[in-house]
Amino acid sequence: KKAKAWTDFPEADFGYAPTQEVHCAVSFKEAARGCDKQVEVLVQEDCPKCNGNRVEPGRAGQTCPFCDGVGLEVIRDQAIPIRTTCRVCKGSGVYIYYKCTNCFGMGQVLGKRRLIVPVPAAVEDMQTMRVDVEGQELFITFHVTSSTYFRREGWDVHTDAVVSLSQAVLGGTAKVEGLYSDEHLELKAGTDSHSTIKLEGKGLKRIDGYGYGDHIIHIKIEIPKKLSPKQTSLMKSFAELEDNTRGTVDGVVKRKKWTDDEASDYSAKESPYNDGTSGQSSPAIVRLAKNVFKRLFLRNS
Ligand SMILES: [Zn+2]
Ligand SMILES: [Zn+2]
Repeated sequence: KKAKAWTDFPEADFGYAPTQEVHCAVSFKEAARGCDKQVEVLVQEDCPKCNGNRVEPGRAGQTCPFCDGVGLEVIRDQAIPIRTTCRVCKGSGVYIYYKCTNCFGMGQVLGKRRLIVPVPAAVEDMQTMRVDVEGQELFITFHVTSSTYFRREGWDVHTDAVVSLSQAVLGGTAKVEGLYSDEHLELKAGTDSHSTIKLEGKGLKRIDGYGYGDHIIHIKIEIPKKLSPKQTSLMKSFAELEDNTRGTVDGVVKRKKWTDDEASDYSAKESPYNDGTSGQSSPAIVRLAKNVFKRLFLRNS
């Protein structure tokens, strides 16, 4: 049975009508992964009182007196008479004097339905989906709330991960929130700021069906803004050892050489001096620097 246009409904005059469009808010993660969302809609259904017969129970409809039950009327005010649907019985041929009081003689009422909407993975903001609810067409528009953490680019997601200075210098691990689960990053010693780590296949599901995009993590090194006196002192010691300073470091006077006592303070049995074989730091200097960093940051964190 074909549903009536919603404008036929008396309730439509009061702002009630079968739902034609639903707006569904989904979070970034829900949209990326796909999820089920519950929505409530109004559908036309047979009036429970008259079972859709439009007549008050115990009464019967009569033959339409206006069209004699034909369902058509003839408009004769023009040269050629026009046959058209009877205005009184709307073509049914039946005139109902005792209209069902529940449905105002419409035979149908609005009923609430709860729908589980399968939000497709990787759905985009303002994407619309058409669903069929008991023969009635319904459009669902998804509103994807933007995330302050995730950024989407095609099938890839991008996030920032803040690591400490010592993590970046010495390496380590960091936990980051992924689309599907928490991810543990292995940070290599000497990780640069703004370098990226790619987690393959941890992005969005491709609609073309070929696997998943990637999760790209942008490393941001957080430079400590406030150091304890001890951290400051160790940082200065590190600065004294730093051999690639372009310019000067506040509060640090570069010395040519460390005394043996000073060197043994930081790294027993390790020579702190550059071995002079190349422009790069000697392994001893690197070890010493790591040692300083460990003392500088790890103890206070
Ligand atoms: Zn009814
Ligand atoms: Zn009629």
